[in-house]
Amino acid sequence: MTQETIDRPGVAIIGYGTAGVNALIALRMAGYEGPVHVFSDTGILPYSPILTSYYAGGEKSYEECFPWTAEELDELRPTVHADCPVTRLNVGEHLVTTPQGDFPYEKCVIATGATPACWGFPGVEGEEDYQPLVLRSMDDAQRLKDALEDSACRRVLVSGASMVALKTLEACLNHGKDVTLVGINPHVLDFNALPEAAERFERGLLAKGVKLRLSQSIAQVRRAASGELEVTFANGDVDVFDAISVSHGMKSNLDFVQQGTLEIDRALVVDGFMRTSDPDVYAAGDVAQGTELISGEKRIVGIWKNAALQGQCAGTAIAAELAGKEPPASCALRGSIATNTIAVRGTLFISAGTMELTPQRQVEVRETDDMTVVYIFEESGDERRLVGFNLVSDTDEEGSRAYDTGAMLTLRIEAGLSRPDQL
Ligand SMILES: Cc1cc2nc3c(=O)[nH]c(=O)nc-3n(C[C@H](O)[C@H](O)[C@H](O)COP(=O)(O)OP(=O)(O)OC[C@H]3O[C@@H](n4cnc5c(N)ncnc54)[C@H](O)[C@@H]3O)c2cc1C
Repeated sequence: MTQETIDRPGVAIIGYGTAGVNALIALRMAGYEGPVHVFSDTGILPYSPILTSYYAGGEKSYEECFPWTAEELDELRPTVHADCPVTRLNVGEHLVTTPQGDFPYEKCVIATGATPACWGFPGVEGEEDYQPLVLRSMDDAQRLKDALEDSACRRVLVSGASMVALKTLEACLNHGKDVTLVGINPHVLDFNALPEAAERFERGLLAKGVKLRLSQSIAQVRRAASGELEVTFANGDVDVFDAISVSHGMKSNLDFVQQGTLEIDRALVVDGFMRTSDPDVYAAGDVAQGTELISGEKRIVGIWKNAALQGQCAGTAIAAELAGKEPPASCALRGSIATNTIAVRGTLFISAGTMELTPQRQVEVRETDDMTVVYIFEESGDERRLVGFNLVSDTDEEGSRAYDTGAMLTLRIEAGLSRPDQL
C-alpha cells in the first residue's frame, strides 16, 4: 500500500451483515488496498438472521449463526468500529457521524439491513415498556430462546403470517409450545403464496396442533391477574397467552440518512452498480431497492443471496472507481427475483418469482398425494413463460423430489428472464 493510499479516507461500510461483508470481500478481491472503515452497531461478528430461528428453536448452536470466523474477516484488513452505530450521514461533506466521532469517506456503502416493525400491535395496556418478542438480531433470538425455554411459558401467540412469523412458530413448536397464529390476511404466507398453496400449508400447520386465527387481528392486550396476557381479537374473541411474538414486516434502517439527501422510496433506490442518487454513496441488501426482474420495478428483495450479490457489486464498482476506472460492466446486477424456502416440522414451502396476478397471467394448479404446485404463466404474443410458482410438500427430506422440483422451476423462471427479448 502506498503512503498516498493510506492517507486517503477510503471506504466507509455502514452495517456488518452479509451485504457489508460481501462489499468488503469484493473491494479486496478487486485489488483495493486502501482503508476500509466498517461501522457496526453491535459488538459481535456478522451473523446470519436466517439462522436466528434455528438457534431460538434449539436446532443450531449460537456459534453456528456466524458464517465468517474472526480470522477470515481479519484477513480482509477492515478497521471495524464495533458498538458504533452511525447516527448521521453527511453526504455533502462525505462524513459519517458516530458516538465515537466523525469519519470522512471517499465512497460509502450503506448496508444497514432492516428492523422488525410492530405496526398494528396495540401493546399491553398500562405497560409502556412492554416489548413483544421479535426476530432479526442475535439479541432477538436470545430473548425468544429464553422465553421458549421457560417452562412457565406454555401458550404463545404468533402475530403475523410472513416467513419470519412461520419460522418463529416453528421455534415455538420445537419447544413443545401450544401455538396460535393470528394473521390479518385470509391465508398464511402473506404475499408469497396463492391460496391453493397456502391452504395445503395451513393443513400441515393444523395437523401439528397449531391454531389458526386468519382474517383476524389483535384488538387489545391486557395483563390478567394471573400474569398471563389476555388478548381480545378484533372479532371479540378473548384468549390468554404467556408470550406474544410479533412479525408484522421489516423497516429498512435508514434513520441516519437526512431527508432529501438521497432518493428513498421504501428503501434506497439504486442503479445496476448499487449507486444511490449520490455517486459516492452505494447501498446493498435489505436497505436497497434494486431492480426486481419480473416487474422491472425497483423493489426490496429481502433475501440473503441478493444482499450478498449487491454487496459484491458495490465493492467491485467502488474499487474500480477509486482506481480511476469505470466500474466493469460485468459486475453490474441486472436485478433479482424473490425466492423463499421454509419448512415447518415437515411441511415444506418453496416459491420463486411473482405472485402478482394480471390479465396476462394464468394460474395452473397440479396436485398429487404429497405435493401441490401452483404455476403462474405469463402470455405475451405466442410466448408463454413461467414467472412464478409455489410448491407445498407434506415432507421436507433433503434431496427429495420437492427440492428438485423447486430448484428446476426457479431455474426455469431465471432462464425465461435471460432470453435476449427479456433483457
Ligand atoms: C428470521 C429471519 C429468517 C430469514 N430467512 C431467510 C431465508 O430463509 N432465506 C433468505 O434468503 N433470507 C432470509 N432472511 C432474510 C435475510 O436474512 C436478509 O435478507 C439478509 O440477512 C440481509 O442482509 P443485510 O446485510 O442487508 O442486513 P443484516 O444482515 O440485517 O445486516 C445489517 C447490519 O447493519 C447493522 N446496522 C443497522 N443500523 C446500523 C447503524 N446505524 N450503524 C451501524 N450498523 C447498523 C445491523 O445491526 C446489522 O448487523 C431471513 C430474515 C430473518 C429475520
